[in-house]
Amino acid sequence: MDDDDVSARKGSFRKFLEHLSGAGKAIGVLTSGGDAQGMNAAVRAVVRMGIYVGAKVYFIYEGYQGMVDGGSNIVEANWESVSSILQVGGTIIGSARCKAFRTREGRLKAAGNLVQRGITNLCVIGGDGSLTGANIFRKEWSGLLKELAENGDIDREEVQEHAYLNVVGMVGSIDNDFCGTDMTIGTDSALHRIIEVVDAIMTTAQSHQRTFVLEVMGRHCGYLALVSALACGADWVFLPESPPEEGWQEKMCVKLSENRARKKRLNIIIVAEGAIDTQNKPITSEQIKELVVTQLGYDTRVTILGHVQRGGTPSAFDRILASRMGVEAVVALLQATPETPACVVSLSGNQAVRLPLVECVQMTQDVQKAMDERRFKDAVRLRGRSFESNLNTYKRLAIKMPDDQIPKSNCNVAVINVGAPAAGMNAAVRSAVRVGISEGHKMFAIYDGFEGFAKGQVSPRGASWGTGASLPRLETWGRVM
Ligand code: ADP
Repeated sequence: MDDDDVSARKGSFRKFLEHLSGAGKAIGVLTSGGDAQGMNAAVRAVVRMGIYVGAKVYFIYEGYQGMVDGGSNIVEANWESVSSILQVGGTIIGSARCKAFRTREGRLKAAGNLVQRGITNLCVIGGDGSLTGANIFRKEWSGLLKELAENGDIDREEVQEHAYLNVVGMVGSIDNDFCGTDMTIGTDSALHRIIEVVDAIMTTAQSHQRTFVLEVMGRHCGYLALVSALACGADWVFLPESPPEEGWQEKMCVKLSENRARKKRLNIIIVAEGAIDTQNKPITSEQIKELVVTQLGYDTRVTILGHVQRGGTPSAFDRILASRMGVEAVVALLQATPETPACVVSLSGNQAVRLPLVECVQMTQDVQKAMDERRFKDAVRLRGRSFESNLNTYKRLAIKMPDDQIPKSNCNVAVINVGAPAAGMNAAVRSAVRVGISEGHKMFAIYDGFEGFAKGQVSPRGASWGTGASLPRLETWGRVM
């Protein structure tokens, strides 16, 4: 983009905002439910965007509990109150689980506290439970205000002045368990934590020929387990949405022993916290360990990652995602009319979009229903296209087809890396080789880019599926620098 483009864009964004004045409006922002990295970036974006458009923005501390209790839990924020929080994990305004907000009595108190400060715009950052609560609150709002007036807590003018509550949600959840968005705030950071641990474990396990069973978070959603298995090339993964077929115990042991036969020193098995079998019975990491030890006699260790996954600093992706969503959330609040349903700001194909909150919550609950009713194909489909395609990619790259099922092909395919090195090139090569082999092609590696190509540095026997002796180590597939 040249300077003219930049100023044109800035100009049009300003023009767009000219019609969006927040003057005279008050926005309350709260974080609720399980904490997630990136929540602070979302809070910061709401505060700064709110101030930018001339609105007042209030922190509501400790989630819904702070809204019910009022007092010093609801405090006006300024530009500086959100300085230096972008890179901080968790949430600086606190999160809580609040029983009182589940009752009308609690929500009545919360409404009184908001009216007292003129807050009729609410931005909730939390999981599907928190967003469900926000929607109930919005629907009850006029009734709550009527009751407050009847009790003499507010007067009739206040009822009229604050007649509507606008609600917008952002999904903060490390599990990526919300339908309607490609990514929830916190998932990418949690994935980074998991991969750091797997990489660390891989170095120690390599030295001892071990099998590692790693349990990752996700009581109802296998997203973290699936993508971490994809990212570290795990040998087996257990997910609630896609339980292993009957007889999986034997198949898994065969796979692990084949790995050993190919001199692979390390086996990694990833288990989602909520993994189940096709009869909805839990599959635990301890059970898997027992199985490997009794059937194969391998030295097997279990690592349960737990809260480490919520910890640490948010990834760049989560900071950017939350910042963009926070800006969009304020725009959504300013554009809301009494007829606008509560919405959730989502990510769809790299665009921040607004979707009806109720429908997204319903879809999310439908996934659980499908799992409860053992309609696992439906559960995978309902999770969304990216979940389904990640699952297919994992299967394609982790499980080698039996030789008699591989189609016949006369194609010889060579893979070459050219140009500056980039992180992830090895993963791309691995993927290309394995997919090529599954299609029956003969795969070759060309070393040292075009220079190596000119000198005929082509793997003489072709590239194989595994990392056995015949396969040139992918890291050594050089590049022209
Ligand atoms: P998450 O938002 O991460 O899914 P929870 O389901 O625990 O976490 O919800 C967080 C809080 O949201 C609850 O403690 C409660 O205060 C509020 N909440 C959840 N569901 C409802 C509901 N149906 N009605 C009112 N409030 C709710």
